[in-house]
Amino acid sequence: MRTQVVIVGAGPAGLLLGRLLEQRGIETLILERRSAEYVLGRIRAGVLEHGTRGLLNAAGVGARMEQEGLPHDGVALCFDGEQHRFDFHDLVGREVMVYGQTEVTRDLMDARAASGAATVYEAEDVAPRDFDGDRPRVSYRKDGVTHEVACDFIAGCDGFHGVCRQSPPASAVSSFERVYPFGWLGVLVDQPPVSPELIYANHARGFALCSMRSPTRSRYYLQCDAGTNVNTWSDERFWDELRRRLPSAAADALRTGPSLEKSIAPLRSFVAEPLRFGRLFLAGDAAHIVPPTGAKGLNLAVSDVAYLAEAFGEYYAERSEAGIDAYSARALRRVWKAERFSWWMTTMLHRFPEASAFDRRMQRAEFDYLSGSRAASQAMAENYTGLPM
Ligand SMILES: Cc1cc2nc3c(=O)[nH]c(=O)nc-3n(C[C@H](O)[C@H](O)[C@H](O)COP(=O)(O)OP(=O)(O)OC[C@H]3O[C@@H](n4cnc5c(N)ncnc54)[C@H](O)[C@@H]3O)c2cc1C
Repeated sequence: MRTQVVIVGAGPAGLLLGRLLEQRGIETLILERRSAEYVLGRIRAGVLEHGTRGLLNAAGVGARMEQEGLPHDGVALCFDGEQHRFDFHDLVGREVMVYGQTEVTRDLMDARAASGAATVYEAEDVAPRDFDGDRPRVSYRKDGVTHEVACDFIAGCDGFHGVCRQSPPASAVSSFERVYPFGWLGVLVDQPPVSPELIYANHARGFALCSMRSPTRSRYYLQCDAGTNVNTWSDERFWDELRRRLPSAAADALRTGPSLEKSIAPLRSFVAEPLRFGRLFLAGDAAHIVPPTGAKGLNLAVSDVAYLAEAFGEYYAERSEAGIDAYSARALRRVWKAERFSWWMTTMLHRFPEASAFDRRMQRAEFDYLSGSRAASQAMAENYTGLPM
């Protein structure tokens, strides 16, 4: 078998890259370890930057997002019950779109199925090979039979635990990491959101976030200790704790119900450098992780593959390697800015076990400055709605 680009992973990065390359007339094969149903069942991100929305529309997969998504022109940040709204329209003239990652994934899967482009789900033992030369290959096993695909390029869109970042020699990859001493306990519930906009709360008992997926489906999070067992959190315990951490008006308005999903996500900042190893390229969570506080993970996966699609497009259209040579440095510049913003939001809004009284005052001062300064608010809004791609 032969194709132009083998994409490893059918998450948002892999599927969107496939779509953007298809628009440029470039043939791809996607190899995904899980089933399509499993990929669609993962409840993850929900906030799309202004640029991500534009890109999905340009890729021809934005129609349902425009119909069913919820444009948001602000968020609220709270500190010990005191609430401040950041008006994105007023501050930077932009907005974000609340539309679940599962829906983005479904739209991309439907578009790919309609185009007839090939995707192999439940591909086992995917292995990128010979990517340091100009004849890379990828082998995999499906239903007990081993296959090998020759290609021009391999795109590693296989997430944090994927095989692609592990494939170059360890000495060729530099990793930068911070693991936070807490996680997010998330609950999905079929109840209207407590507020039409997201509420981020820093409370003495820990961080809380009120988010949503639709006018009738809400997503709530609580900061929890690292290593917490999800089974120790009954729905009742979750709702009681959430009420304690929210400003009283929100706590009173909260509508609860049985959780549809409950899970814990660890918080980590991570970047691997570079993003290119010969003819193997990393994109999305395969290359970097942000704590979800700034809602940047999915959006970074989108900007990576937008750059990568441009680079491959340039290679095939003009036989120029300038784009693929520049990819790693170009993508990393944006990645590090999003890492900075996500780390800053996380640091300002969470309770750190080792924090001193001084550290707590610093958090309060940060909140007071941010909510009281138009310049600081604009910087926050600029980052939250998305830096230029
Ligand atoms: C629990 C959780 C909650 C999150 N919440 C938020 C949030 O609220 N906001 C936010 O912005 N971001 C959030 N994120 C981050 C966001 O979901 C990711 O940044 C986004 O999914 C990145 O897309 P991706 O395609 O790069 O990686 P993924 O979505 O991880 O996709 C990678 C794909 O590769 C496949 N794969 C892995 N290994 C192999 C292999 N060896 N062979 C073939 N296929 C393989 C995987 O099955 C997967 O389908 C969350 C992430 C997690 C894990």
